Amino acid sequence: MHPIEASDPAVWKTILAERKRQQTGLEMIASENYTSPAILAAQGSVLTNKYAEGYPGKRYYGGCEAVDEVELLAIERACKLFGAEAANMQPHAGASANMAVYFAALQPGDTIVAMSLAHGGHLTHGMHLNFSGKLYKVHHYGVRKDDERLDLDQMESLCREHKPKLVVAGASAYSRVIPFDQISEICKRHGAMLMVDMAHISGLVAGDQHPSPVPWADFVTSTTHKTLRGPRSGFVLCKKDWLPKINQAVFPGLQGGPLMHVVAAKALVFQEAMQPAFRAYAAQMVANARALAHELLEQGFRLVSGGTDNHLVLVDVNAAGLSGKVAEKALDHAGITVNRNGIPFDTRPPLDPSGIRIGSPALTTRGMNETQMRQIARWIGSILKAPADTTLQAKIRGEVDELCKAFPAPHEHA
Ligand SMILES: *Cc1c(COP(=O)(O)O)cnc(C)c1O
Repeated sequence: MHPIEASDPAVWKTILAERKRQQTGLEMIASENYTSPAILAAQGSVLTNKYAEGYPGKRYYGGCEAVDEVELLAIERACKLFGAEAANMQPHAGASANMAVYFAALQPGDTIVAMSLAHGGHLTHGMHLNFSGKLYKVHHYGVRKDDERLDLDQMESLCREHKPKLVVAGASAYSRVIPFDQISEICKRHGAMLMVDMAHISGLVAGDQHPSPVPWADFVTSTTHKTLRGPRSGFVLCKKDWLPKINQAVFPGLQGGPLMHVVAAKALVFQEAMQPAFRAYAAQMVANARALAHELLEQGFRLVSGGTDNHLVLVDVNAAGLSGKVAEKALDHAGITVNRNGIPFDTRPPLDPSGIRIGSPALTTRGMNETQMRQIARWIGSILKAPADTTLQAKIRGEVDELCKAFPAPHEHA
């Protein structure tokens, strides 16, 4: 009997149900993935018992020899994998990594230029209800109306007008390459620092499928659980000179003790991402998203920016007469999990926007390739063309089950 089952059947039941959902459904939320069994196990290890406030060699607790070593491994591997000068491995999440950079580089009231949430940015890039929108003066750039690609002219004119201390680049729902070199030029011309939040694309950067921001940015932040396929967490990369300030911002600035079981899992994922197999994985994520995009276009759907260069597509379902909410629900009935999402210049409300975001990371981890992507895109097409047809949804649900059996999810433990 599993120790969780023995100790608490009610909680165990929820874990089994979620495991079953992850095994029997098509997980196409662009920010989700399946970690390796080793990474799952590290997070369930005894390292969770250890307090380690401070940094390797400078802790506020005794008994930190082993966790010092694992944190140093994580730092060293992250720097090697991304070609960075320095790193902080302690942020609990992507949001805390961003907070750490803001606390290190800015004073409350300082000015930031960042991508608008409505055009694909993130809450922590200055949304009014988020700490970032409350503490700083934020001016948002977006994409151009005609081709729905990053509007660098708008970014530059905002810099000219508002003289930001920091420009933030990076997105949660943008399917095209982000030109960090050009953004860095804009920052230099206007005396701004550059932070790149590569949360969504860090696995593509690690696997050489997207240009790296590291040579161009003063700070690079990321999650570890999206395309990078690690534990649910975050980290900061920076130039050497900035490390003391970043470290101080994370601890004692915004956190207490680090999650050493998660730091160990980060050390594992950086090692995994250095293997040739990970590069192949990253390339397949992009190939799969592209196959999905092609087939959806064939089916007559409108994609934001007309396609994809990375691991996700944003479908304008409003153009097909649906809302994002209706589309999300209809697909869910067939075992296809996506999330509704705003599209640039959306005319519908945020809770029921015009788009759905579809990603390839998790299904690529299951070993699926372009053949399965085209099949799935045809299923998505037929469901969205008849969103009230529950008989069709049930029929496809059966086919989804078969496909999932042929490509098992990598779960050995709960
Ligand atoms: C997912 C994401 C984050 C936040 O990560 P959390 O771990 O959920 O805090 C930050 N920035 C971007 C661009 C993201 O996509």
